[in-house]
Amino acid sequence: MSEAEMTDGFHLVVEALKLNGIDTIYGVAGIPITDLLRLAQAEGIRYFGFRHEQSAGNAAAISGFLTQKPGVCMTVSAPGFLNGMVALANATTNCFPMILISGSSDRAIVDLEQGDYEELDQMNAAKPYAKAAYRINRPQDIGTGIARAIRAASSGRPGGVYLDLTAEVLGSALDIGTAKNSLVKVVDPAPPQPPAPEAVARAIDLLATAQRPLAILGKGAAYARADAEIRSFVETTGMPFLPMSMAKGLLPDDHPQSAAAARSYAIGNADVVMLAGARLNWLLSHGRPPLWSEGTRFVQVDISPTEIDSNRAIAAPVVGDIKSAFAAFNRTLKPGRIGRQAAWIDEIGKRKQQNIERMAARLNADPSPMNFSSALRAVRNALTAHPDVYIVNEGANTLDFARNVIDMSLPRHRLDSGTWGVMGVGMGYAVGAAAVTGKPVVAIVGDSAFGFSGMEIETICRYELPVTTVVFNNNGIYRGDPPDKPYSPTGLLRDARYDRIIEAFGGAGHHATDTPNLTRVVSEAIASGKPALVNAVIDPTAGTESGHIQSLNPRSAAAQKT
Ligand code: ADP
Ligand code: MG
Repeated sequence: MSEAEMTDGFHLVVEALKLNGIDTIYGVAGIPITDLLRLAQAEGIRYFGFRHEQSAGNAAAISGFLTQKPGVCMTVSAPGFLNGMVALANATTNCFPMILISGSSDRAIVDLEQGDYEELDQMNAAKPYAKAAYRINRPQDIGTGIARAIRAASSGRPGGVYLDLTAEVLGSALDIGTAKNSLVKVVDPAPPQPPAPEAVARAIDLLATAQRPLAILGKGAAYARADAEIRSFVETTGMPFLPMSMAKGLLPDDHPQSAAAARSYAIGNADVVMLAGARLNWLLSHGRPPLWSEGTRFVQVDISPTEIDSNRAIAAPVVGDIKSAFAAFNRTLKPGRIGRQAAWIDEIGKRKQQNIERMAARLNADPSPMNFSSALRAVRNALTAHPDVYIVNEGANTLDFARNVIDMSLPRHRLDSGTWGVMGVGMGYAVGAAAVTGKPVVAIVGDSAFGFSGMEIETICRYELPVTTVVFNNNGIYRGDPPDKPYSPTGLLRDARYDRIIEAFGGAGHHATDTPNLTRVVSEAIASGKPALVNAVIDPTAGTESGHIQSLNPRSAAAQKT
């Protein structure tokens, strides 16, 4: 057989990805995937090269959340793979579709532990943290392997999939005829899963008995792109709703039915709660007292059957995809079936008003140096002219305050620490969001959070992405150390100038010490459409230990029990 009739694993991987509409890859180059990345780029796939695999993986994961197509990250073996695993585990935890493809070393040597370059049994290491993990051992299986990865990542409850590609498979030759026949174009990778009509009827019946109904919308609802169906249902029933943080903007935060500013009251007093794409995990206090009352009954709409009853008994489970489920609710709902509960709505309205006034007082104070509230007011003022900006948000206090202060008006525009409450997603999410949306991104990050992915500022500058990073710099994790004392475990360098990092890479650095200046530089940075970093100087005494989740510190938790 002549050479012209042969192809190899490198080409087959690229062709299989292209055939399935994968047009963007994130990663870090090295043995054995460098030529794979070169070829992908030459074949028209956009490639974003990062400085650390964790950020590349986070970019892939958030691309998956934003597009409903698995985001793809490629890494080298062993350490590169493990760096990427943090992002893959985070994607699985958050139900984002993502595929981590790592090159791996010689299987015969790895399996006998004979000591190869970057030796690791990657597939088995990945299994506990991934929704699925596969290895491709023969070039003729590349098409099937990629098809299985795409389907596993995006169908049902989405998640992170690991795909192991041995160096040997990449380099193996295959005749073109066999190769062509081996490719698989995935048909309908995430088919609708409509709920059973009985489940829909049971849910509507339960809601019809409610005096004080409440809908809680989670990021699964945002992901489902059922914006019109959900809005129609919420507005037709007139029930108050609470968005989880990444569901902010699914209905606008200034919607009259939003109960966000009266969250504890609404949760504590609702008699029927409808969970839509939100888990009753720690972010909702597991549905337990004292936040929740014992008597509350639940409707839960979720694509994953095993999510039901995970923390509280669910009276009306609706297992199916949210778009189909809400379409069915809207079809089933008879006018007036779920009565408007005037007393309930009034009481929520009053509490909202009180809390909004209280917050306004904090926001309008103008201390020097700035605190979290005043600095966020300044950033918010810069954002009002740009509702289409994507917000990335991480940190402890920076996350807690920004979630409340920065209103969202569009769905899927707030990307944050998510289910784990994790730090380090910032720059990866920012690059991924800019890459797949082409829209400006503003990353509002604590100084400690920024440190985990800060080197990706070079990535942002290299690709000239419209990302403005605002570092809330209070000299530490939670807060800064007092002057003239040795650094404590939570302290970071006093008066660090993060703005000078971006200047090293040709981006615009700004140093903001007061609110008018902060508003001005953030506005300018967004308008420029170019990479910028704002060092926002925050009072080192302003933060609180562990932000709003102090109760999770073992010492505080123990103190509460005694
Ligand atoms: P939040 O943190 O915003 O409360 P979670 O990540 O805890 O949200 O919950 C998201 C839920 O949404 C998961 O239980 C997941 O199974 C579910 N989910 C994801 N996609 C869909 C979908 N298309 N239809 C229904 N449920 C979905
Ligand atoms: Mg800090």
